[in-house]
Amino acid sequence: MTSYGFLGLGIMGRAMATNLLKAGCEVVVWNRDPAKCEPLLELGARRGESPQEVAARCELTFAILADPAACREVFFGKQGVQAGIGGRRGYVDMSTVDAGTAGEIAAAVTERGGRFLEAPVSGSKKPAEDGALVFLAAGDKSLFDDATPAFEVMGKKNFYLGEVGNGARMKLAINQVLAGMLAALGEGLALGQQAGLAGEDIVAVLAEGAMANPMFKLKGPAMLAGEFAAHFPLKHMQKDLRLAQALGEEVNQPLPAAAAVNAIFKRACVAGHGDEDMAAIYRVMKQ
Ligand code: NAP
Repeated sequence: MTSYGFLGLGIMGRAMATNLLKAGCEVVVWNRDPAKCEPLLELGARRGESPQEVAARCELTFAILADPAACREVFFGKQGVQAGIGGRRGYVDMSTVDAGTAGEIAAAVTERGGRFLEAPVSGSKKPAEDGALVFLAAGDKSLFDDATPAFEVMGKKNFYLGEVGNGARMKLAINQVLAGMLAALGEGLALGQQAGLAGEDIVAVLAEGAMANPMFKLKGPAMLAGEFAAHFPLKHMQKDLRLAQALGEEVNQPLPAAAAVNAIFKRACVAGHGDEDMAAIYRVMKQ
């Protein structure tokens, strides 16, 4: 049986590693804050002492970490993955980062004789718990094939997008759409309520038209109820918008709408809502 390493047990990682364990897989877990390993150890996971040790011990190591800085630290840092990878073992980074970060890590993995795949995910806490994520993979095709059984446990659909960087580019492009939709929902609710309408009525009308979608159905009532426990932390969406803006600069694509949405997310982060759910942008719209 393939043994899987798993680095990063935040909102997404905890749910994904749990599904691997429930499917009967051998999983070795590591998290910067070791306390987050405990629930997984109770389900039968084994503890890894460092990213280096996990990458040396497991045929295939997954990571899902906050941002480019976290990915670089876990890979290039002291006792990082770089020191443990090799022997055609695989490293699959599922974090949302920029193509440059993915490319640098890919080159370093290959140089050490390992295989690299980027595989950012579409879907949030609930799809992660339900094993219903969508993987946006790119890089070593043999590793994609080897990782597919695990992807099938953690998700419902895999895309193989070719060369490293395309997974990051795809993820940033689609998250910009998501953030724009969320901002439009928040402003529509704020406008309607300010004009005397009931928020619940606005959500109900939206649900009947061509704009109906699962995200509005989930986040509309959450905004109205002020329920902002993090499913997708607001600060991570702002990071994605920042990275999407940088991608726009790189390929000379103007993104004026996304720039305005990014400003809303930044304002919400500065106001102290970064660790709340992304729907908490509504707080700054309602002020
Ligand atoms: P999260 O709950 O904030 O977890 C972040 C993880 O990164 C934690 O394990 C954290 O460790 C680790 N980390 C942060 N900085 C680190 C560092 N310098 N060194 C080592 N580890 C570090 O985030 P999440 O929601 O699981 O998201 C993880 C990734 O998936 C992000 O790239 C996010 O954009 C992406 N994503 C999230 C969602 C979602 O709905 N939540 C959906 C799709 C994609 P500690 O526990 O020690 O802090």
